[in-house]
Amino acid sequence: MDEPFIERLERLEKEAIQALSGVSDVGALEGWRVRFLGKSGLLTEELKRIGTLSAAERPRAGQLVNTLKKALGEAHGARLGVLVADQQKAQLSAEAVDVTLPGRGLGVGSLHPLTAALRRIEDIFAALGFSQASGPEVEDEFHNFEALNIPAHHPARAMHDTFYLLDTHLLRTHTSTVQIRFMENNTPPFRIIAPGRVYRADAPDPTHSPIFHQVEGLVVGEGIHMGHLKSTLHTFLEGFFERPLNLRLRPSYFPFTEPSAEVDVSCLLCQGVGCRVCKGTGYVEVLGCGLVHPAVLTRVGIDAERFSGFAFGMGVERLLMLRDGVPDLRLFYENDLRFLRSLR
Ligand SMILES: [Zn+2]
Repeated sequence: MDEPFIERLERLEKEAIQALSGVSDVGALEGWRVRFLGKSGLLTEELKRIGTLSAAERPRAGQLVNTLKKALGEAHGARLGVLVADQQKAQLSAEAVDVTLPGRGLGVGSLHPLTAALRRIEDIFAALGFSQASGPEVEDEFHNFEALNIPAHHPARAMHDTFYLLDTHLLRTHTSTVQIRFMENNTPPFRIIAPGRVYRADAPDPTHSPIFHQVEGLVVGEGIHMGHLKSTLHTFLEGFFERPLNLRLRPSYFPFTEPSAEVDVSCLLCQGVGCRVCKGTGYVEVLGCGLVHPAVLTRVGIDAERFSGFAFGMGVERLLMLRDGVPDLRLFYENDLRFLRSLR
């Protein structure tokens, strides 16, 4: 066998081992494998050269090439093992999670004070045998005004700063609209409340908001009178404010009730002694009510000779402001968590 063949193999081995020590990632290792052990690699070239040797030299030459091929294959396998282990180690440390650290805490959400108050109001009335009704927030003038005894040019229309959508449609200014829709489709006796959003074109200030919440109540049956109204409201208000209260009905005016009254309760802050909140009177106004006007019953096809009823409407924000001493109605809509968490 000629010396150049053996020398070349030795040189090739040295070169391969040296190159392998410089390989630092799996991609480079694959490049190394292709260069030395690949189908067109340097070792394959040596195998091809064996054909040019004499018949006597060939077996020995073949053996040498195969030994080298096996050695380089093993070196490749060992290097690959080390590189893969390194790669996994780096990945694990980059993605490490320290399970002993305290958790971040997602925080548990809770109901908005208005939602909680509405549910509470609904629960109290449910216990008194009232069911719930609802109606559209986009209303027509008939249900918002005419059916409630407020014809065009009636001065009461001017008191409602109405958002008009089209000439004849509007955002309801009170939940009394639901009374009408319910009475159109049901026959007495019935007891309902209608909680919901209402809209007035008022500039926001501590006691006004263009959107707020009302709960409307309606009872119609035979022989319903002011006594039923007063005892129902007394039971509700003491339940809502969670304390004994004095109730006072002051004569008032609403087009859709006759007689009409404003309801005052003994001041929640001073218990009737007189303070800044009640302006020294010992009472605060909480809602409006009255007996359903016979004209309203007649307009929805209920016999006003046989049936009578009472209705009331209250602002949910106002009740909450009184109960929790909230000074500004706008706080309910600003989503300041410090304020929201300060209420029950
Ligand atoms: Zn007071």
